[in-house]
Amino acid sequence: MEQTGKEEILQELLRYLAKKGDIEFSEQLVNFVKCLEFENSKMRLGFPNEFFQLWFVEKYGDAVNKALKQMYPKQEVDIRFEVAKEMFENENEGGRIDSKKVFQAPFGGLMVNNTNFEMLIRSAHLNPKYTLENFIVGPGNQMASATAKSVTESPGNRYNPLFIYGMTGLGKTHLMQGIGIRILERTPDTKVLYVTSEEFTNELIQSISQGTQQKFHSKFRNVDVLLIDDIHFLANKEATQEEFFHTFNALYDLHKQIVISSDREPAEIKGLETRLVSRFSWGLVVDIQPPDYETRVAILKSKLEQKGVRIPDEIIFFIAERVRSNVRQLEGALTSVIALMRLKGGEDKVSLEDVGRVVRDIGDGENQKLITPEFIIGVVADRFGVKAYDLKGRSRKRQYVIPRQMAMYLCRELIPGITLSQIGEVFGGKDHTTVLHSCERIEQEMLKKGETWEIVNSLIKKINHRK
Ligand code: ADP
Ligand code: MG
Repeated sequence: MEQTGKEEILQELLRYLAKKGDIEFSEQLVNFVKCLEFENSKMRLGFPNEFFQLWFVEKYGDAVNKALKQMYPKQEVDIRFEVAKEMFENENEGGRIDSKKVFQAPFGGLMVNNTNFEMLIRSAHLNPKYTLENFIVGPGNQMASATAKSVTESPGNRYNPLFIYGMTGLGKTHLMQGIGIRILERTPDTKVLYVTSEEFTNELIQSISQGTQQKFHSKFRNVDVLLIDDIHFLANKEATQEEFFHTFNALYDLHKQIVISSDREPAEIKGLETRLVSRFSWGLVVDIQPPDYETRVAILKSKLEQKGVRIPDEIIFFIAERVRSNVRQLEGALTSVIALMRLKGGEDKVSLEDVGRVVRDIGDGENQKLITPEFIIGVVADRFGVKAYDLKGRSRKRQYVIPRQMAMYLCRELIPGITLSQIGEVFGGKDHTTVLHSCERIEQEMLKKGETWEIVNSLIKKINHRK
């Protein structure tokens, strides 16, 4: 009875805080925190493990403290958070954990179900969608993905640290979070923590200003697996680098797994201390390259399956052909196409032209920046064995007219944001209606899926691959 009383007070308190908007309340929360003692202004809260303790303190600690102070303005408030594993075992009688719902998989002494596993993942600051199962492997990321899997089999022993680098949007975050999730699936009581370098920096600064460095140290030095994202963010931040150096050493000496990501390889990060650069290369340094065409198709298909949406293969191939250098944009294009499909009321209502427009709007940053009208004109002139000069001129000779129209069409298709007038200017000061007419002619021809279609597609390939 007494136990229930304390528990109810705790629940009341949490609900009250949620109502005030100080915390988010979820029904699951009560599965992970128990009131061990509550007397006047003294409160002791227990957690199944250190990880939940830390998580709770971070998220709710201040709010609970404040609420207690309000309740007992005249007294010294004493609030403690501690691990009380035993309180969460044999919970099926009288406790708050409903055995039918909760007991499924082992988790230290406590058992977890899917909801709880998601909480476990969240408490490690991981996103449940970034699993290794959802990560499509192709030539560009094969090595990175294989080492990631290997790390999950024996954290801290093989490849420590694992250093993953590559351009933005290629799956570094996904892969490193996948490592964390897989490890938690295998051994749920492993202390996994994902943090961006920016968060690490901010927390350090905050801890210095609040005099809570001790808490900061113990947070990062007491984990079994530290996943630290976008380390290039630490460039030129000397104090943070110093702190990270010590964090790294502490973990490394204890054979704790460290996974680091960056947009470039260690030695290329300017403004990074050499002692860190050398440490980053102690384990294994792997890169991720942009996905090839087949991998892009596979990624699109996998995302569609996850979303439970179907779109015609033709459109999938089209997107995969156009958006090349960045998986994030590939996904973005897909999302926009799906939205368009819904808007128009069906998959059959969306034309390749529509898709082309969507894809062009998204723009494939890395690549498209480099595509200029001049470059396109050069590639087209090459293909037809004519001079770029003639494509920009006014000659109505058949040998120039069609390549010229194609070049205009390709400029509109492949250069994000370019206007018809701008294209006209490049082509010797032609009117925008002339450009429009040319583009439409090519579009018409394309629909026949004949020679024009083939030539234009091979030109697109050439232009996209800068050949
Ligand atoms: P980065 O951290 O390298 O900038 P992210 O990991 O954030 O890139 O990836 C961007 C998006 O692309 C994410 O939604 C991720 O799920 C997706 N993604 C990247 N690579 C893959 C892959 N190989 N398979 C499936 N999805 C991927
Ligand atoms: Mg990232």
